[in-house]
Amino acid sequence: MSSPQVVVIGGGAAGFFAAIACAETHPHSRVVILEKSRALLSKVRISGGGRCNVTHACFEPSGLIQNYPRGGRELRGPFTRFQPRDTVDWFARHGVRLKTEADGRLFPVTDRSETIVDCLIETARRAGVEIRTEVALDSIERSESSFVINLKSHAALIGDRVLLATGSNRQGYQWAAKLGHTLEPPVPSLFTFTLDDARLIDLAGISVEKVRVQLDGTPIEQIGPVLITHWGLSGPAILKLSAWGARVLHDSHYHAKLLINWLPDYSTSELQRKLAALKAEHPRQSVAATSPLSLPSRLWKRLAAASGIGVDRRWADVSKQQLLALTNELSRGAYAIKGKGVFKEEFVTCGGVRLDEVNFKTMESRRCPGLYFAGEILDIDGITGGFNFQSAWTTGWIAGRAMGAS
Ligand SMILES: Cc1cc2nc3c(=O)[nH]c(=O)nc-3n(C[C@H](O)[C@H](O)[C@H](O)COP(=O)(O)OP(=O)(O)OC[C@H]3O[C@@H](n4cnc5c(N)ncnc54)[C@H](O)[C@@H]3O)c2cc1C
Repeated sequence: MSSPQVVVIGGGAAGFFAAIACAETHPHSRVVILEKSRALLSKVRISGGGRCNVTHACFEPSGLIQNYPRGGRELRGPFTRFQPRDTVDWFARHGVRLKTEADGRLFPVTDRSETIVDCLIETARRAGVEIRTEVALDSIERSESSFVINLKSHAALIGDRVLLATGSNRQGYQWAAKLGHTLEPPVPSLFTFTLDDARLIDLAGISVEKVRVQLDGTPIEQIGPVLITHWGLSGPAILKLSAWGARVLHDSHYHAKLLINWLPDYSTSELQRKLAALKAEHPRQSVAATSPLSLPSRLWKRLAAASGIGVDRRWADVSKQQLLALTNELSRGAYAIKGKGVFKEEFVTCGGVRLDEVNFKTMESRRCPGLYFAGEILDIDGITGGFNFQSAWTTGWIAGRAMGAS
């Protein structure tokens, strides 16, 4: 039996990884990548601020899947077969060493995304993958035992197996739908929050290491660093919250109430006791004089002022009601999210091809035999930190190995 003709649509991270896995595992297979634009791997090139955050030092599948607001459950099996450790080994085998930063993110030692781009293109070429750029595709039709891929030039290609690795491109979604798939509506994930709140004005640049943020009326919450920006809020906790709340926030047109606990290490009653003790111990000191609770002092002053406690008010003159208001302000301050801002380093799409319609042992469609999916076209997205590329590498690797099998 002759090897199948494998057509990979999309020359991004997932498409390249799949094409290489297919060509390396099945050396006799005929693999072609069809890329619509002139540039290959353009997102890899701009990723991680030009350094490409390839993956994350999280080597237990059970912990790894916690970083995927969508797709975690389905990725558990695939991660037992190809996980960040395998990514590190894979790149090492192909001549690229990765280094781990203090927060767990992995980058090429060169600190240049070009290193990853060059590695993928060279490896694909060496493995015999044909790479075609600037290919305008018109339609994909399923015939009895193969696919007919019609190009806008009126030429056509026959593929025995086809991989859709078109990322969040609309045309890719449309082809998937035409071939029988259901789509979860695509909406943005990983963004900052736009706020217009007097408490935060002129505090841009201040960050607080450990804050609990919650979307009011939902169980969606995150703990971590928060950064006050000129437009509102950013930082790891906010980006994670935007990922877990991507759909809810989209449905509310990015208007929502955000609850902020600036001191999550204190329970409400501990905080009340702490403030009462400060009042008893420092009656003559002005409340705003020093920040007693490890908060940046400008933020502390703002939160005190928002509780009705003026800059010069001494602890002795703070009323019970004001102490209560301050407790509330510190532990459950309500802020109105008024929109979505951009996060320069990484954004992804929540939504895409429904996961129960794909066999995660092979990444083959359950609806259309011979059709495969990998990468962001699927309803999978991770938080920032290298998790999005990891799912592209993993699903691409699995799809590639399966597609070349006779
Ligand atoms: C600015 C930015 C920085 C990022 N940084 C990181 C990071 O450091 N770490 C991380 O883990 N994630 C990062 N991400 C997310 C990551 O880039 C994506 O999750 C990943 O690229 C998805 O890979 P993919 O192959 O599925 O899709 P893509 O990389 O989007 O590739 C899809 C390819 O298909 C092509 N294509 C689309 N439609 C068609 C068509 N109709 N015909 C032919 N070809 C088509 C596209 O041109 C593209 O080349 C970043 C994202 C952005 C936007």
